[in-house]
Amino acid sequence: MSVAVSSKLNKTVRDQYLKLPQDGKAQVTYVWIDGTGESLRCKTRTLKCEPKTIQDIPEWNFDGSSTYQSEGSNSDMFLIPARMFRDPFTLDPNKLVLCEVLKYNRKPAETNLRYTCRETMDKAKLSHPWFGLEQEYSLLGINGHPYGWPENGFPGPQGPYYCGVGADKVFGRDIVEAHYKACLYAGVKISGTNAEVMPSQWEFQVGPCEGIEMGDHLWLARYILHRICEDFGVVATLDPKPITGNWNGAGCHANFSTEVMRKEGGLKHIEEAIEKLSKRHEYHIHVYDPKGGQDNSRRLTGKHETSSIHDFSAGVANRGASIRIPRQVGQDGFGYFEDRRPAANCDPYAVTEALVRTCVLNETGN
Ligand code: ADP
Ligand code: MN
Ligand code: MN
Ligand code: MN
Repeated sequence: MSVAVSSKLNKTVRDQYLKLPQDGKAQVTYVWIDGTGESLRCKTRTLKCEPKTIQDIPEWNFDGSSTYQSEGSNSDMFLIPARMFRDPFTLDPNKLVLCEVLKYNRKPAETNLRYTCRETMDKAKLSHPWFGLEQEYSLLGINGHPYGWPENGFPGPQGPYYCGVGADKVFGRDIVEAHYKACLYAGVKISGTNAEVMPSQWEFQVGPCEGIEMGDHLWLARYILHRICEDFGVVATLDPKPITGNWNGAGCHANFSTEVMRKEGGLKHIEEAIEKLSKRHEYHIHVYDPKGGQDNSRRLTGKHETSSIHDFSAGVANRGASIRIPRQVGQDGFGYFEDRRPAANCDPYAVTEALVRTCVLNETGN
């Protein structure tokens, strides 16, 4: 089993230092999305006292030429604090702060999709859009081989692993449990977790979150996941089809509702939203992974509980459709629907923005 070197450092020795008092000062770790639109970066500074709100955390900057983000000779980029969380690694009073990235001219960086998401959510405020995202991911050794799989060959075929129990069914539960607790401590609105269909693949859910909150909480939950995996010496990949062949891919199902959908008679509004989505399939596919649909084309094959990337479909309790209305929602006559198309490595700001543009702001065109 190939495990990263730093995970083998003595964690008991580390804990001795982590327990030292800090004299009221606070360590604040700034977290941001780099130029790939998928990877996260972070760096830490000391503040004189514990920040109580996001306003207490100053802007900062970083070298964009080292994160695939700068333009020409203007390599300084601004970090604008956007949402503050408790730091589950170094504990209170320390903070994690998710940031927006602005360029030297204070325009949003190319991969700062929060900027337009925020503007869109502002326009749709009165409809109270709620989201719940299901983040699937796969654990790998640092050699890129799925964690817990035989070094040569494959585990037995899919069937026993989804929500599995037992050392021969699931691999890496320590990571899942550590991540769940750390998210709760941080203040991330994590709502659950389960083992997935492919062995070493897992899911956690975040939500319901309203508006811009969704992207913030999911990105920070991803940060916590990658950081915990460091401690355990494995890597979490969000690749939508990490293993080719007869193995499930990884998605980020987007559950969505507005206020009218959540009330009696809501099913009519859900059906109207699905009708609007059916006319904009290409637009949505384009923003549901960071490569304009290229990554998702490996996953959305029409097999392994997915719909084909080329077709739009919807149905009650249908996991082979683009859009699924949960059975309970069909029975109640109100609630929410699930867009199953987003890839695991999607940018949640782009996904939530697109849903609101189409379903609430009635934008059309592909
Ligand atoms: P699945 O059956 O597809 O595996 P999950 O239980 O994994 O569903 O995830 C359901 C998600 O839907 C959760 O993230 C939850 O927060 C979210 N959710 C529940 N109610 C609503 C709602 N009214 N609007 C939006 N999202 C919701
Ligand atoms: Mn789920
Ligand atoms: Mn799932
Ligand atoms: Mn789902």
